[in-house]
Amino acid sequence: MNTSPAPTQERLETRIRQVQEATRGISEQYPRSYIRQCIDQDRFPEEMWKALGEYGLLGLSVPEHFGGSGGGVVEIVALAEALALGGVPTLFLVVTGLGRVPIVRHGTPEQIKKFVTPTCDGSVKLCFAITEPNAGTNSFNMNSLATRDGDDWVLNGQKVFISGARDADIMLVIARTQKPSEVKHRTDGMSLFVVDMKTPGITLQQLNIQVETAERQYMVFFDNVRLPADALIGEAGKGAKLMFEGLNSERLLAAAAALGIGDYALGKAVAYAQDRKPFGKPIGSYQALQHRMALAKAELEAARLMTYSAAERFDAGEDAGAHANMAKLLASRAAVAAVEAAIQTHGGYAFDRDYDVVTLWPMVRLMEIAPINNEMLMNYIGEHVLGLPKSY
Ligand SMILES: Cc1cc2nc3c(=O)[nH]c(=O)nc-3n(C[C@H](O)[C@H](O)[C@H](O)COP(=O)(O)OP(=O)(O)OC[C@H]3O[C@@H](n4cnc5c(N)ncnc54)[C@H](O)[C@@H]3O)c2cc1C
Repeated sequence: MNTSPAPTQERLETRIRQVQEATRGISEQYPRSYIRQCIDQDRFPEEMWKALGEYGLLGLSVPEHFGGSGGGVVEIVALAEALALGGVPTLFLVVTGLGRVPIVRHGTPEQIKKFVTPTCDGSVKLCFAITEPNAGTNSFNMNSLATRDGDDWVLNGQKVFISGARDADIMLVIARTQKPSEVKHRTDGMSLFVVDMKTPGITLQQLNIQVETAERQYMVFFDNVRLPADALIGEAGKGAKLMFEGLNSERLLAAAAALGIGDYALGKAVAYAQDRKPFGKPIGSYQALQHRMALAKAELEAARLMTYSAAERFDAGEDAGAHANMAKLLASRAAVAAVEAAIQTHGGYAFDRDYDVVTLWPMVRLMEIAPINNEMLMNYIGEHVLGLPKSY
């Protein structure tokens, strides 16, 4: 496809290309077979993560004076897309990208140096915990509670589905510091903490989740976990607003990962469709397959434009909420369509794990549900963009 950019697009495309070229070096050194080996061995892709740090890619979107590589949301989104396009999507990048936003924006210089700077070379890994078993999508209903004890905080509660909790050194946790009955508005009384995973009182239970990524998911229990005063990011009770600033960029990282996997799957489909000839000519010449792939490609490209447009808005300091929500909605749907096209094209072989086609499906399907389900995104668009009554 001719991807020559329109003049106004040129600067954006240059920013994206620079990241893509740097990332290609990593995904060639650590291809999909490497990630699949890590998955089989149930281990974190430590070597790849270290290389991403050494190349300065993990430092993208963190200002250089804090030890990062500079750039903005566009660059880290480009990294997420490029890794997925190389067949090595990583959920850890999504949660790291999200988790660092509120710390960089609202942490003290000491907190940024302590919690963010070492994530830029990969020496410290950060995971993110918001989801709770009973609250689910309705995060404001969470029960985890941190109470003051002198200068310290004491955290009790439970989180679920936490990606990479075993491999992380620190975890960004959002918890209540006031019970819902003690606040005027349900968005008040929540606070953000950075928790050292070695703190006594934290236990993990691995979940049996069927998504082909090297990061596993965990139930995390906090039992009287004592946090020092500097674990609190920003003002106590105002954590919800800080968290939402990070969640918009997380949506874009998820969108980018979906786009990359979608294109990766289409690449496999096209190669197979050129080669496979049960009736003597390539199955890629049949319109039923060709149009399905063509439509998926068009939808991926449209979602990609939306994703980078939202990332640019984010970097320009504009309110990118609506665009980020639309981008994640469209990208996840386009990616599912692309993987479905790849499955159809591969016929029965799609279900042979060694062909690595059906194995792409859980991850893209997940992107329709996490980090936030598409219904909530449509709720947002319906209410805040179209001005319709709140539907839930
Ligand atoms: C592989 C994986 C990795 C994850 N990683 C993390 C992580 O690192 N950190 C973290 O904090 N969480 C993580 N999550 C949690 C994820 O963000 C949640 O699963 C997701 O937000 C949905 O919550 P739930 O599963 O409780 O669904 P529920 O809230 O029970 O919702 C179920 C379904 O109901 C529908 N629904 C719910 N509410 C509405 C509504 N208001 N309007 C319309 N429809 C609605 C949607 O279709 C939704 O899919 C992960 C989950 C998975 C599976």
